[in-house]
Amino acid sequence: MPRARPLTVLVHGGAGGKKPTAAQRSCLTESLISGMHILKTGGRSIDAIEVMIRLMEGSGLFNAGIGSRLQLDGRKRMDAALMEGANLKAGAIASIEGIRHPISAARLVMEETEHVLLVGHHATRFVRHFKVEKDRLGSSSHRQRIAPLSRGKERSKTLKLFRALTQYETVGAVALDSKGTVAAGTSTGGYSMMLPGRVGDSPLIGCGVYADNTCGGVSMTGKGESIIKLALAKHILMDMKQGNSPHVATRKAFRELVQRIQGEAGALVLAPDGRFSIQHTTRWMSAGFWNGRGKPRVADQFH
Ligand code: ASP
Repeated sequence: MPRARPLTVLVHGGAGGKKPTAAQRSCLTESLISGMHILKTGGRSIDAIEVMIRLMEGSGLFNAGIGSRLQLDGRKRMDAALMEGANLKAGAIASIEGIRHPISAARLVMEETEHVLLVGHHATRFVRHFKVEKDRLGSSSHRQRIAPLSRGKERSKTLKLFRALTQYETVGAVALDSKGTVAAGTSTGGYSMMLPGRVGDSPLIGCGVYADNTCGGVSMTGKGESIIKLALAKHILMDMKQGNSPHVATRKAFRELVQRIQGEAGALVLAPDGRFSIQHTTRWMSAGFWNGRGKPRVADQFH
């Protein structure tokens, strides 16, 4: 008899200096349950990724979807990407506005176009064409009310302290389905106090997300600028292709991240055989995993 494939779902709600809340933990558990349900009923890993991330985007509990942070001009601009490891199909959007589920927007880019990444105003127009759900709080009347609050008052010391206490509350997921296909996705509002137009690692294939059935899947969180410089998702997977386990490959990449560029990150890393690793260089990382047996496991720290 052929051995059953190890169905697996991994999820994160960001890494950083602030302890995750109980509400965030239970949202991660719900997300794992909904992703595993898709896999157990024969669904594809890419479907599980979309459903898991949509749940977190719609919760308002994370810096993604309706909970996204504002850029310094008082507007929410969101980034998201997903990738399927069987055929290296990928879709991403950056600096999109007024949309409730950026991950579904990224899926539309993947399914409906020949492109990988759409950005800004044109990405928003493209997605609206498909009549996706809007985020009403991203509307211009709301922006005008909040914009003055975020202008000009911050001092650099306060800003530094604020950043130190900030959780990178980006959300992400990685999954392995019954056909052995790995998929990964990430969705974010960036981080607080960003210059308008800033784009992080999350929508960049190979940086914040990657999936390839020959080596595995990765979803990142953390300081996007540092993750981009090392193209971290692909970097970890290339090391696994050379024979290293998810644990060793991630540990090596994180050592380089910290030593060379004083970066900060957390990662979900899954191999096509079901081995996985969850690691972070930050104090906290809200994340969880489940292989469909027993109960899903969610924690605030992983060693
Ligand atoms: N990596 C994201 C970014 O830099 C932030 C996060 O992980 O929360 O945009």
